[in-house]
Order: sequence, then C-alpha cells, then structure tokens
Amino acid sequence: MPAYLKQITYRNRALLDLARFAPHCMNCGGGCEGEMVGCHSNSLQHGKGGSYKAHDIPAFLCGSCHDLIDGRTGGRGLLPREERDRIFLEAVYKTWLWLMESGRLEIAS
Ligand SMILES: [Zn+2]
Repeated sequence: MPAYLKQITYRNRALLDLARFAPHCMNCGGGCEGEMVGCHSNSLQHGKGGSYKAHDIPAFLCGSCHDLIDGRTGGRGLLPREERDRIFLEAVYKTWLWLMESGRLEIAS
C-alpha cells in the first residue's frame, strides 16, 4: 500500500450526506432522490482494509447496486471483483460529475 494511504484516510461526512440529493443511482439510473447512499471503494488500493472503510470518495448508489458492489448478491450471481471495481469507479465518475454540475460541490471559483 502506498505510504500516502497509510497516513491519512480522507473523511467527509457532509460529502457522503449529499447522496440524499442525488436524483438517481449513478450506476443503474434507478431509484429516486432520497434513496441513494454514499458507497465506498472495496479496493485495498483505495484504503479499504478489513472493517476499515476506504477514503470518503463516494459513488451515490441505490441499495441494490450497493449490494452488488459489496458482493451481497441476494441470490444473484456474484460479479468478479474486477467487474465490481470497474462499475464502482464509473459510478464515482458520474457521481462527481453530478456533484460539480449540480453546484453541490465547489472546487474552484
Ligand atoms: Zn442502482
């Protein structure tokens, strides 16, 4: 694990809480405002370890997609880790694009 991940794990409760304003799931497009949750990476490269969560760099997902990413299948087939990681990262990209376009996140002005 890179040293920068061992030193500081980024935490931002306010950022995670913005999930409630997401208009839909950033993976499947389903759900509606108020139903999304801020989901964390399950990759060791992103700081995940045991019961320790990765950085607060979320994807806003519905409960079904959160389960899918976390490997809770609910009777569905378990996707390979690489596919779950790919889906998560694409959802992170969509989440952050929505955060910036919606004005919920100001990076520079
Ligand atoms: Zn979904």
